[in-house]
Amino acid sequence: MATENCNFPSTLDMNELPIVRIKLNTPPLKCIVKAILPDLLDNFENASAEVVQCPDLTQPPFNLASEGLNGDENVFDIGDITNLIPSIKREKLYNIKDLKRITGSDPLVIIGACAGPYPFFGVDSEASILSLYRLINLCVENVKMTGDRVKNGTHVHMMKSDDAAAECCHKSLPDDEMRFSMMANFFTSNGFKGEVLKIVCEIRKGPLSFSTCIREALEKHFGDEIIAIGGVILIENGKVKVHVIKPSLAKIPLQSEKELGKLVNFIELSPPSVGVGCIVSHDPGLNLRLQHFHLYTDRNQGGHYHIDTEPNTIKYTGYFGVSKQFTKIDQSNFML
Ligand SMILES: [Zn+2]
Repeated sequence: MATENCNFPSTLDMNELPIVRIKLNTPPLKCIVKAILPDLLDNFENASAEVVQCPDLTQPPFNLASEGLNGDENVFDIGDITNLIPSIKREKLYNIKDLKRITGSDPLVIIGACAGPYPFFGVDSEASILSLYRLINLCVENVKMTGDRVKNGTHVHMMKSDDAAAECCHKSLPDDEMRFSMMANFFTSNGFKGEVLKIVCEIRKGPLSFSTCIREALEKHFGDEIIAIGGVILIENGKVKVHVIKPSLAKIPLQSEKELGKLVNFIELSPPSVGVGCIVSHDPGLNLRLQHFHLYTDRNQGGHYHIDTEPNTIKYTGYFGVSKQFTKIDQSNFML
């Protein structure tokens, strides 16, 4: 799509932004299994947690850019909600390639949830004015970089209009479109095969979503010690509630995250759906988004995961790598 003659900002160099790196004291996977299982069983009728060899994630239904979740594991929290509220900071445009230098990892595999590269979606009929319909979109980040080679399997979801019945539409990003914007929660690794946490939960009897249940269990058992995990969730049975952002978000000044909630369309995704993202057990005062998953399907629908809407039939299967490091980039000084 043509983006010439437009005044889009250039990407910020993440190497020059404030970076907080926290080395994590990673407990053995079997200790995490033991710690969280009782809490999973409080919220779900059936639950299991075990240490397994990661399945090949390049295969359906996952279709990720790399096979596994192991090697140089890192969880990133980049930007934050203050890049959307009270006004959208268009200059908050980042390039995922910068993570190569920040991590020093090769290959580097990035999966997770972020806002997409709005300039990619072009301009409206008035030259140099960004189409408001395309400003904020949700990305399922799925990238593998090996040397200078890039394999980009990123999905982007957006609403076509503000109408509640509007269609969710889907785009794929080409290999050379490496930008994202506003905020991101990524799990990065070498993408090698190896041991991961497998968590299966079926039939929800408590109030917590899959990701909230895992996060609260981790926080309960590990307290101030940060456990950061990332990976994939397969939803085989039961519908889930996701949001996709309405175009009007770009036009209305927002005062709070609650108001942001009015400017999203909620849709129900039928199974099967797959999500990528991460969970951080504890915020040491960095204004973090502690859990964040974006879902995709093979039916062009997707969005930001909230919770299942058919608790009697829901079945989640998650595969997670455990991170040895947590990194916050571009922390704002302004707390909402
Ligand atoms: Zn999201």
